Amino acid sequence: MIEAENLTKRYGDRTAVDDLSFTVVPGRVTGFLGPNGAGKSTTMRLLLGLDRPHRGDARIHGRHYVDLPEPMRVVGALLEARAVHTGRSAYNHLLCLAQTQGISKKRLEEVVELVGLTGVARKRAGGFSLGMGQRLGIAAALLGDPSVLILDEPVNGLDPEGIVWIRTLMQRLAAEGRTVFVSSHLMNEMAVTAEHLIVIGRGRLIADCSTEEFIERS
Ligand code: ADP
Ligand code: ADP
Repeated sequence: MIEAENLTKRYGDRTAVDDLSFTVVPGRVTGFLGPNGAGKSTTMRLLLGLDRPHRGDARIHGRHYVDLPEPMRVVGALLEARAVHTGRSAYNHLLCLAQTQGISKKRLEEVVELVGLTGVARKRAGGFSLGMGQRLGIAAALLGDPSVLILDEPVNGLDPEGIVWIRTLMQRLAAEGRTVFVSSHLMNEMAVTAEHLIVIGRGRLIADCSTEEFIERS
């Protein structure tokens, strides 16, 4: 479970996130919808403890991110800026991450297959297309088998086949009882991905309702 309570974050005199409160529950994909610049990434960074809010609270399982036991096992995150600059193969890149987290090779191989990287796992990750880089980022987020997933625009740059693949994966992970919180600026994409929507604009909450209800309203 994810909770934002009166979250507020300013950059200079610009308010990126403005008194935002919402709860994201497990068992369904919750979409975080809003145009570019609405404050989605900033909110996700606050949830992940990468930034401090000026006001309010960001909690995961009732705690601040920094206070979570083994945060990487609890929360899997995909943020923007995800080009991997490495001469390593995708497999070795993930292996390094797995080893620092004490994750087994069996789990690593499972994840490579889950995200559809099997065919390119031995290729140099630094040379990946945006879409393959996305899949690699999602693989890294899934390594620890986290109960909460925070994914910032995960299908950006993916081809149609990749989009369907990742969408199906997110829905399956949610159906298994995980909390899946995924941002996008694309209404059409969220309409077929998410069961529930948190919609923001200019840092403020616009809607917090079922996707069906949001479509009816708009
Ligand atoms: P979104 O993810 O919805 O596109 P962001 O959270 O990236 O929105 O940005 C929200 C607002 O905050 C935008 O106006 C953006 O320009 C501003 N912003 C985000 N990060 C920074 C930063 N590090 N410094 C200054 N302004 C920022
Ligand atoms: P504690 O949990 O003991 O308050 P933390 O190390 O979590 O200590 O945080 C230190 C300070 O930063 C506290 O004042 C806390 O409220 C604030 N802080 C840290 N993370 C967050 C967050 N996600 N949301 C709001 N405030 C936070």
